[in-house]
Amino acid sequence: MNKKVKQNIYDLSREDLAEIVSDLEQPSYRVEQILEWLYKNYAGNIDEMKNVPASVRDHLNSNYIFKGLEIEKHIKSNDGFTQKWLFKLLDGSLIETVLMKYDKRATACISTQAGCAVGCTFCATGQMGFVRNLSHGEIIAQVIHTAVVMRNSGKRLSNIVFMGMGEPMHNYDNLMSAVRTIIDPKLLSIAARKVTISTIGIIEGINRLAEEKIQVGLAVSLHGTNDAERQNLIKAASKWELSELIRSCRNYYKKTGRRITFEWALIDGVNDSEETANNLVRLLKGIPCHLNVIPLNPTENYKGLPSSGNRIKTFKDLLNSAGIVTTVRMRRGIDIAAGCGQLKAATPPKRSKLQRA
Ligand code: SAH
Ligand code: SF4
Repeated sequence: MNKKVKQNIYDLSREDLAEIVSDLEQPSYRVEQILEWLYKNYAGNIDEMKNVPASVRDHLNSNYIFKGLEIEKHIKSNDGFTQKWLFKLLDGSLIETVLMKYDKRATACISTQAGCAVGCTFCATGQMGFVRNLSHGEIIAQVIHTAVVMRNSGKRLSNIVFMGMGEPMHNYDNLMSAVRTIIDPKLLSIAARKVTISTIGIIEGINRLAEEKIQVGLAVSLHGTNDAERQNLIKAASKWELSELIRSCRNYYKKTGRRITFEWALIDGVNDSEETANNLVRLLKGIPCHLNVIPLNPTENYKGLPSSGNRIKTFKDLLNSAGIVTTVRMRRGIDIAAGCGQLKAATPPKRSKLQRA
């Protein structure tokens, strides 16, 4: 006889919990109690939920798994600030999560998919292809894991960037329900403006986000100033016209009043010329924004190189003097392949290898 497959406990919604509690003939305040254990105290197992009655604890314990993330590998960078985990999910899929500690903040870089279908040539996640979307609970489990690491050092996880593996807008519903759990003052309680969603420019997702009444930040990865340049670097870019993407960015600003951050992986001899910088100025004209330049990080299957220090400076200065506030992203965790676009995981095992409880 097959044993029951346990579910990730973070996949339980408030409504699911209310149903469980009511089925077990318990008062509804038990829901808030359980949520507090999970999202305020980061309970790592059922025994910690001391004020929850045995019937509820038994039910949760026999049907749900607390971590859902098994640490396959944990490495710390020589920079002293960055660490990364390779996690195995319940079905054996592998993902990576990065934690970066700064003076006054700590940022978790969260994955939303195992692999990615967009296929940017210069990105290690794109090079590995698409495996699957992560569930709400799998996204949240990464946040809780890094929040516990910070709590253990007496600090708080302050920022979340959806810049790990995958294209967040391709997993929109799970992304947004995770965002709601992250910013809910009764749950993970991280301020919405400390949460950033980075997208390769999925127009439908940007349009949907513009309608949400949530103050999260939006970052749009551009890398090219016309369709041909973008298609050269982003395999799936032919699906989205740049002119339409720019229109959706303008609309996003109009609807939300929030500045967009544009991201630009700067690649030697590919998209770092003065001419490209001037074209970029023209493209972004009239959109209140910041530009974040990321000198290319090395990946196994892309031969391009990061631009030289001089070219980075010229590119940046040209944009800044044209009124586009431009910063160069600090290179962090490159020695452990935890930098932007370096996250990947080995080929996942077959789906039939489901972990059984
Ligand atoms: N899929 C989303 C979020 C994950 S990638 C997106 O593409 O925006 C996060 C950032 O890393 C993106 O801006 C992406 O362009 C950048 N990136 C990817 N590969 C890179 C590399 N090899 N070097 C530098 N930045 C890279
Ligand atoms: Fe996917 Fe973003 Fe990597 Fe492109 S850069 S392959 S969209 S994760």
